Amino acid sequence: MSPFALTRKLGDDDVSRLFAATRATLNSWLDRLRVEAGDRFPEKVTAFRADFAVHGRYGKPCPACGDPVQRLVYAANEANYCATCQTGGRLLADRALSRLLRDDWPDTLEELEEAKASRREG
Ligand SMILES: [Zn+2]
Repeated sequence: MSPFALTRKLGDDDVSRLFAATRATLNSWLDRLRVEAGDRFPEKVTAFRADFAVHGRYGKPCPACGDPVQRLVYAANEANYCATCQTGGRLLADRALSRLLRDDWPDTLEELEEAKASRREG
C-alpha cells in the first residue's frame, strides 16, 4: 500500500489489511525488542534499524522482493517505500526533484535504472 494513500480513500478491505498489518508489525517489534532488552532497560533506542523493511533503507534491497527501496523527500522529512510492493512499480515524484527534472522524472523503476545507466555512460 502506498505510504501516501489517503485514509479517507481506502476501502474497507484496505482498512482491515492496514489495521492487521500495523498490529502484527507492532507486536512483532515488541517481541523482538523485549527479547533484545531482556531484563535490562532498553538502550540504543533508535528510529532507524537495519532490520526495518524500508524505513531508513534507501537504496537497499526490499526484504520482500529485493528491489531497491525508494525515497521521497518532502520538507525536512524523507519517506521510504518499495515501488514494486507498495505503488505498483510507480515511482512517487519528489517535489524538489520533479521541479528539477521536469519531464525527465522516471515513472517506473525500469525507467529510473535506464536513466542511471545512461547517466553513467554519458
Ligand atoms: Zn518490495
